[in-house]
Amino acid sequence: MKLLRSQPRRRTPLPNQVVRAFLLLFAAALCACRTVPGTGRSQLNLASESALSEQASAAFAQMPKANDPAGLARVKAIALRVITAARTAPKGYGDATLPPPAAWEIAIINDDKPNAFAMPGGKIGFNSGMFRLTPTDEDIAVILGHEVAHVVCRHGNERVSQGIAAAVGAVAVDQATRDQSAEKHQQAMAAYGAVATLGVILPFSRSHESEADQLGVVYMALAGYNPAQSVTFWQRFSKEPGARMPEFLSTHPSDQTRIQDLQKLLPMAQKIYSAQQVKAPAR
Ligand SMILES: [Zn+2]
Repeated sequence: MKLLRSQPRRRTPLPNQVVRAFLLLFAAALCACRTVPGTGRSQLNLASESALSEQASAAFAQMPKANDPAGLARVKAIALRVITAARTAPKGYGDATLPPPAAWEIAIINDDKPNAFAMPGGKIGFNSGMFRLTPTDEDIAVILGHEVAHVVCRHGNERVSQGIAAAVGAVAVDQATRDQSAEKHQQAMAAYGAVATLGVILPFSRSHESEADQLGVVYMALAGYNPAQSVTFWQRFSKEPGARMPEFLSTHPSDQTRIQDLQKLLPMAQKIYSAQQVKAPAR
């Protein structure tokens, strides 16, 4: 692509496709808004959940599974309690449409990086490398509570929807500035990219992580695991080499922010946990 054009280009109106794409996106946004459980935030869900679930199944099937029956049995037992809590959580914190616990596919992924994930449609992957940071069942409940909360909040769908909206916006900026000099056009495109990434996509991702933390401690408490362990776990995780990123550019909140936010949530989560202990003291 040429960096400088000698002649300014003739002004052309926005093509019909761009106008149509915007109108379609606007109409879709009007009917695809959903309220996130627990926080009440409004989110955009443009993608079909069943299509996402199919894609997730295909990706999950390709992942290398570890042969660790004892580790798998441990993660499964905790996951079943956390999923039950997420399906039955009161006051709009849960999602009764989640697949029932027995329908979830759970696997230990043969990967030394400490990581875990949950996918739309009911899949949980727990990396073998995560076990070195999870000496207690409470630690595993912290992770599973957080990951199941991402599914309840449909964060995967929202990320896809943001990608669609950002792509439509990029086409519009491209078209709107195409008559300016190539330099100005490039500057406008670069500015749009920075605003879309730092102003919309990353902060939304950080809000996703905070929402998952917030609902995650509720689910672990309802499942009978002490939510105080969430602070201990994230403190341990933050000492893991390579687990930290500068907050400004990261999709995750800084460890310090996350731990402070969790400490604020603990009194509420402890109340839920204590109520569970009265109901089911044998756990
Ligand atoms: Zn997360």
